[in-house]
Amino acid sequence: MPALCWRPGRIGSLELAHRIVMGAMHLGIESQPGGAALAAFYAERARGGAALIITGGSAVSRVGAGGRHYSFINEPAEGAKLRAVADAVHQADGRIALQLFHAGRYAFERTFGLQPLAPSAVPSRFSKSTPRAMTAGDIAQTLADFAAGARRARELGFDAVELMGSEGYLLNQFLSPLTNLREDEWGGDFARRTRFPLAVLRHVREAVGGDFPVIYRLSGADLMPGSTTDEETAAFTDLLRAGGADALDVGIGWHESQVPTVPYTVAPGAWTSCAARIKQAAGTLPVIASTRIHTLELAERVLEQARADFVSLARPFLADPAIVAKSRAGESRRVNLCLACNQACIDRSLADEAVSCMVNPRAGRELELRQRRPARRRGWVAVVGAGPAGLEAARVLGEAGWRVVLFEAEPEIGGQFRLASRIPGKSDYARTVAYFARELDRLGVEVRAGRAIEADSMQDLEGAEAVILATGVRPRHPELRGIELPHVRTYTQALLEPAADGGPAVIIGAGGIGVDVAH
Ligand code: SF4
Repeated sequence: MPALCWRPGRIGSLELAHRIVMGAMHLGIESQPGGAALAAFYAERARGGAALIITGGSAVSRVGAGGRHYSFINEPAEGAKLRAVADAVHQADGRIALQLFHAGRYAFERTFGLQPLAPSAVPSRFSKSTPRAMTAGDIAQTLADFAAGARRARELGFDAVELMGSEGYLLNQFLSPLTNLREDEWGGDFARRTRFPLAVLRHVREAVGGDFPVIYRLSGADLMPGSTTDEETAAFTDLLRAGGADALDVGIGWHESQVPTVPYTVAPGAWTSCAARIKQAAGTLPVIASTRIHTLELAERVLEQARADFVSLARPFLADPAIVAKSRAGESRRVNLCLACNQACIDRSLADEAVSCMVNPRAGRELELRQRRPARRRGWVAVVGAGPAGLEAARVLGEAGWRVVLFEAEPEIGGQFRLASRIPGKSDYARTVAYFARELDRLGVEVRAGRAIEADSMQDLEGAEAVILATGVRPRHPELRGIELPHVRTYTQALLEPAADGGPAVIIGAGGIGVDVAH
């Protein structure tokens, strides 16, 4: 049971119940009118116990948006929506900071037909566009946009703002010698490259006053050869402290970096050394560690080793909105673990689609897929197939008070997740299957494994109020000459019964499964 996680904390004037923060994630539902879905998403995480929620970035201008589905803090029509979000979180007894965002050269020209703005006209491999170097007028306008956004966030009821200065976005671009090639007062040597981000902080501070918490998200490591050095990051940390930041949130890596930062192949906690370096330079200023921290046990270790004062988890709140509440109640075995697969969250976000979660399909659809109150039901429901979809269907029906019978043709539950758990680095998939097994047991779901439902076993389903088919994925059998030969196997066979001789093998198909099997 984590202990340091549950100590109260403070960011500027903001008292926080404990040390676990929900980090910013762009959800792709920010543009929906009214904001009901967005409010429901955040309120559920507040009820789930996050001490502070940091929203996905709200763009300070159209040209600074990272895609079609951003909210725009400075546009009058967006006010009611953002106020609804802050209100919903407060009603759930939560605290919420709005992240102020400008993508700079990571904006997509195709989104609104606006050429992205950046310190210099350095093409971006991420957005595939070449930005326009900002004029003195653009710089003055952008400073004013950040200040106006912060003032408005305060008026709309947010408890704090965060300035997005990492992951290669605009403020980070000004700091880096790779993207700031200016020779005027806003670029050149390190001191001049710090001027724009520090000016943003100063303008924001002046706009909101001394008592409103301002968090700065700085880059702990750009992971770009030739970019800002560790020594410069430490010096910049000192400047942010002197400039009036109330806390530093440590982001890692640019979107153009060749170094992966968040997939399952990255060891959990790998980046906390960057937070520790910043904490050393930050003195008494609170530091928030983030990036690839997936459990509260790991968060506890980060605090124990004094690598940070707060720990931010993002995707784990998609996988389980109640991760904090369950852990505080001593039920951490009931937490649905984030697998760092990125398939339904980051991959969709980068494609400008609404995000969800592979292990929690309600994520982002809290209004559409409402949780039902448990009720005594008369009948029973059959779920056919105990892969991830069938397991979640059985769990949700069990929570809603149904008697559920889950049929699985294989001798064990898990489906594709059971196969995935055999891939090097993907053992967490087995933890997810174990989570479902515990949940189904708790809910009294009857599991009939090794029982295929075929035409001649339909009597098993007789009397069911409903039958949920979740029979899922089957390997394709392409029409290839020789496919019937005995040494040709499906990926399912290859994973469940690996060949003993270790001889040479040919894999046809280099999608995710082909690569996993090769691994
Ligand atoms: Fe985690 Fe995968 Fe869900 Fe994203 S989709 S939150 S990486 S489990």
